[in-house]
Amino acid sequence: MYYIGIDLGGTNIKGALVSETGEIAREVSRPTRVELGAEAVCDGIAAVITELSSGEDRTSLGGVGLGCPGTVDDETGRVLYANNLGWKNFDLRAAVKSRTGFDLRIGNDANVAALAEALVGCAKGAQSAVIVTLGTGVGGGVVLDGKMLTGYTGAASELGHMVIRAGGEECTCGRRGCFEAYASATALIRETKRAMAAHPESRMHAAAEENGAVDGRTAFIAAQRGDAAAQAVVDRYLDDLACGVANIVNIFFPEVIALSGGVANQGDALLVPLRERVRALSYGSRYAVRHTRIELCTLGYRAGVIGAALLAKQS
Ligand SMILES: [Zn+2]
Repeated sequence: MYYIGIDLGGTNIKGALVSETGEIAREVSRPTRVELGAEAVCDGIAAVITELSSGEDRTSLGGVGLGCPGTVDDETGRVLYANNLGWKNFDLRAAVKSRTGFDLRIGNDANVAALAEALVGCAKGAQSAVIVTLGTGVGGGVVLDGKMLTGYTGAASELGHMVIRAGGEECTCGRRGCFEAYASATALIRETKRAMAAHPESRMHAAAEENGAVDGRTAFIAAQRGDAAAQAVVDRYLDDLACGVANIVNIFFPEVIALSGGVANQGDALLVPLRERVRALSYGSRYAVRHTRIELCTLGYRAGVIGAALLAKQS
């Protein structure tokens, strides 16, 4: 049996034909063209589904799943709110059904990517996993006993918007002090720039010049070269990241927490000190027989289509 997984993004509609065990048989992609409106985007989604299902016996197709940005309600098939698509309370399931005949399963894009990592990626075989994406913002998903934690009307698992410093930095959500306002790549770049302004002698200036811009790597590179101001940026970033990750451990005690996104590319320079800090902050860790493993995600951008297909399999 095969399943079609769609990753609906603001730029591209990516689709894949995926086996029951998460292997991709075929992939297609086409521009989303958000500016043409929801109905035109649904024409694009239908075209991707048609392309992937053509030549396949419909009896060998188990269903279609789709990951969408924003708040989505899988019970009703509606996208309640998707800022970067400009959609509000849109009946996506009906729109796709009328074009293709398929009953769509939908999930938030970060949640379905987490489902893929939990079931067939870095946390395969684990009882539970939480995925934390460190990108422009901080996203993620919680998977318990093989199911996404979606909450009432699909709005749960906004891990980036737990406050770790009351009254702290402004967040894109309107609150202050959110995990995202400290652990995102955007936050790391903000702190790097502040430290560079305060330390004209810092090796961060040379590191930024080598890469053409200040980015999430700048402080890590300069810290590895022995720069004290850069090390302070890295240490503070790790402290804030560890605070949020330890909060996740204390709430869910998942078997695995896995990081993805640009900052996670730092690998062991990030993971080794993070594990140490999280262990110290985790409730009862001195007595615990087992601990949450902190790892890196392994599926990359394909987690979106694979997770959407695996969601379809769960119906
Ligand atoms: Zn926030």
